[in-house]
Amino acid sequence: MEADKRTTTICTVFAIDHTALYYSVCSFCERTLPESNTAAPSVPHCEHCNFTRNTTAVPHHGSTSNPSKRLFRVLMSVATETKVSVVVVFDRAARVLFGCSAQHFFDFAKLHPFAAETTGKILEGEMLKVTLSKPKNGNAQHHRVVSVVPLKSGFRPVIDTLREVYGVRADC
Ligand SMILES: [Zn+2]
Repeated sequence: MEADKRTTTICTVFAIDHTALYYSVCSFCERTLPESNTAAPSVPHCEHCNFTRNTTAVPHHGSTSNPSKRLFRVLMSVATETKVSVVVVFDRAARVLFGCSAQHFFDFAKLHPFAAETTGKILEGEMLKVTLSKPKNGNAQHHRVVSVVPLKSGFRPVIDTLREVYGVRADC
């Protein structure tokens, strides 16, 4: 098996695709669930572990009764010295930029419908040091960001700025 090739580079965020910031996975086996563009599927059902909403077994804390959970997957165009390219930022790296979980962001965006668009504006022009990994899977079209470090001193996660923009207290 080929080891993935990693490169670290400095880039500037050119734009993000704010229409698709996250995807849903099964809470139990973490496989991707099919989803329509915006709303959660009405009856989440995981074909891999056969978990459905009606299953009563809840292995974790009581609050984890939701059979699906959201993770970040953000398509971002970034400009390096030589070119503009589209990279995909998965959950772990995206949390650094967002400062919260995808579920938390989703809940926030439900109350503030323009939050995703505003996020695009917040991140535009942000300088980042990113480590990119070339997809092992031949079908994956974009390099994925395995780690991200904002270069601006005093970088504030997106959710902080959003709370300020919308006048929401931090504990909401
Ligand atoms: Zn599952």
